[in-house]
Amino acid sequence: MGRFSMWFANLMRGRYGMDQLNRALTIVALIFIVINFFFHTRIINWIAVVLLIYIYCRMFSRNIRARAAENQRYLQFSSGIRSRFGRRSSNAYGTNTRTKDKTHKILKCPGCGEKLRVPKGVGKISISCPHCHTKFTKKV
Ligand SMILES: [Zn+2]
Repeated sequence: MGRFSMWFANLMRGRYGMDQLNRALTIVALIFIVINFFFHTRIINWIAVVLLIYIYCRMFSRNIRARAAENQRYLQFSSGIRSRFGRRSSNAYGTNTRTKDKTHKILKCPGCGEKLRVPKGVGKISISCPHCHTKFTKKV
């Protein structure tokens, strides 16, 4: 037993682990598994399997900064959905509230010039542009 826990602790050392994005993906995967339980569709089954593989890849990833950036993108995306479908902001210039964000920084992609929102104060991060897939590192 002690040997196993040591092996596991060693395995998880320097790995990313669980975050909000993984938790959300786990819920989505479970929903797909439940749907599949009723409909037995091969595609839904495969989506669930792929999702679970993706969750495990993120959990065991050593590129913690990249995973944290993904999580930040997810949080930003989900808060965007929440503000759109949830209670409406009293601010008429809803989009302007983004730039006031003290925890994020707007970077310009060197590949396509697209504005990218990244978490601030985490040090040097590697960013992959969602538009042109240019990879670059930046200190934030
Ligand atoms: Zn780009």
